[in-house]
Amino acid sequence: MTKTFYVTTAIPYVNAKPHIGFAMELIQADVLARYHRMRGDETFFLTGTDEHGSKIDQVAREKGMTNQELVDENAAAFKNLADKMNASNDYFVRTTDDDHKRAVQKLWKKLQSQDDIYKDTYEGLYCVGCEAYVLEKDLVDGMCPNHNKAPEKLKEENYFFRLSKYGERIKEAIEREELKIVPKSRKHEILAMIKEGLKDVSFSRPRNILNWGVDVPDDPDQVMYVWCDALPNYISGIGYETENETFKKFWPVNAHIIGKDILRFHAAIWIGMLMSAELPLPKAIYVHGFITSEGKKMSKSLNNVVDPLDYQSKYGADPLRYFLMKEIPTTDDGDFSKARFEAVYNGDLANNIGNLVSRVLAMSCKYFDNSVPDGDINYELLQQKAREVWTGYEKSIAAFDLKKALEVVESFATYANKYVEETQPWVLAKEDQIKLAEVLYNLLEMVRHLSLLLRPFTPTVSDQIDEFLGMSEIEHDYSEKKSWGLLKAGTAIKKATPLFARID
Ligand SMILES: [Zn+2]
Repeated sequence: MTKTFYVTTAIPYVNAKPHIGFAMELIQADVLARYHRMRGDETFFLTGTDEHGSKIDQVAREKGMTNQELVDENAAAFKNLADKMNASNDYFVRTTDDDHKRAVQKLWKKLQSQDDIYKDTYEGLYCVGCEAYVLEKDLVDGMCPNHNKAPEKLKEENYFFRLSKYGERIKEAIEREELKIVPKSRKHEILAMIKEGLKDVSFSRPRNILNWGVDVPDDPDQVMYVWCDALPNYISGIGYETENETFKKFWPVNAHIIGKDILRFHAAIWIGMLMSAELPLPKAIYVHGFITSEGKKMSKSLNNVVDPLDYQSKYGADPLRYFLMKEIPTTDDGDFSKARFEAVYNGDLANNIGNLVSRVLAMSCKYFDNSVPDGDINYELLQQKAREVWTGYEKSIAAFDLKKALEVVESFATYANKYVEETQPWVLAKEDQIKLAEVLYNLLEMVRHLSLLLRPFTPTVSDQIDEFLGMSEIEHDYSEKKSWGLLKAGTAIKKATPLFARID
């Protein structure tokens, strides 16, 4: 039976431009989706946008637009980002979609039928800027520290979700890794939070406070608050409304990829909702960190905000994808600097990988008349080397360490370049045709493996390399591709066009 794989990104709120941190998350998810497709798994990759909330209402009014016009415009920027980053998402879910709204209402009713939703009055301090109740202890001199404004005292009717009922079960699921949280430090963080006790969560707002959202079923005065609206995108986006074939095939999700700031919502509230809805739990939540710019927190005032589209338009998506996956620790904070980007681009991509591909193809074309030489394909040492590389690579991806996987790939390119230096094909060309054929066959095979290893990370580059190798038209399954010696003697090959122009 074919395996399935379902991966999601979080859905960003559409009140700001897409930033580099979300670009990284999108690429992490895309790498996993492409990797699983390459293995032959039936794969679904979901991303989308969170489009409700009174902030939208407020901005739309300022701009003289309708709410829908504003979110359409803003959602387009995120669709464009996915497009420009070469994300292979199968669907783009929007919380203003009608089928999403119906799915969320269905879920609400299910939770209600479990006696997990109840109405109560909520009294507290509300910051309009935060669009949230704030706690006394978080205020600075009576002001919201984010907005430097005194919050208003508010009393309102809310529906609440009985999250407290599920605390113990959530804790057990995480401890037993029925739900795996990666990295371990985040697992401990959420377990500590749960041990302090999970309180019931407010699930709705009166319509006079929040009028841009999903209607609460059978109560015209109440509108759903973000948790029960946004989190269910992961099921609405694959057909929870009708529980169709796609939903049955792909739920439970294999991996939710999220930032460290939204761990509690995903590893506690969402899990409680799924338990209440009697749905299977996600298999894993992968948590990444934040990206600083030139060593500092990104901010408009420091003028150090990195726009992913700037780098994409200048160098293409692949170098940016490579940099973000290799330089930013997959589950930790990392830094983006122009100097480092250029160093990695020139070092890893132009000098190491690009140079290998170009010289191996140039020599093979020159000495063997643009075709794969008839060399010995049973070269034990390289067979073993390739096996080791694949094992390290697959292990790293399975552990959600994409940085390590790329380090394995890059060191394989280094190894292949060293093999060129040691065997000196240009000397063999004058002395030993049989040895030359063997060496260049081996090198072409290494280039082929390199292309396959890079495919989830830099798909366009891999397409190019496969075309040089005459591989693009041929279908093979994953285990055939990973084995040594797939290239056929006599296959027409081409000289490589430069994959990466050096940055000077
Ligand atoms: Zn505030």
